Amino acid sequence: MTDELKPCPFCGGEILEARQYKSPHFSVWWFVECRSCRAKGTECIRTDLRPSPKVEDDEARSRAIKAWNRRSPQSNNDTQKGSAS
Ligand SMILES: [Zn+2]
Repeated sequence: MTDELKPCPFCGGEILEARQYKSPHFSVWWFVECRSCRAKGTECIRTDLRPSPKVEDDEARSRAIKAWNRRSPQSNNDTQKGSAS
């Protein structure tokens, strides 16, 4: 599992943070935020279907990080649009 985050596609900042947000309904969301321009990556909900919150946490976190990295202009060039699903 890699925690490496690509630079912000908006401002080029490299101070990025994977953060979590807890909703009032016991859901936990993970997302990546740029500390420079406050850009936010895709929010990934943590599922609680399996009896292992730690694993779910890591899984949601790495999904948020992958989503952020996909969005980075340096990753590749098929980030036009079409992530509609
Ligand atoms: Zn930024």
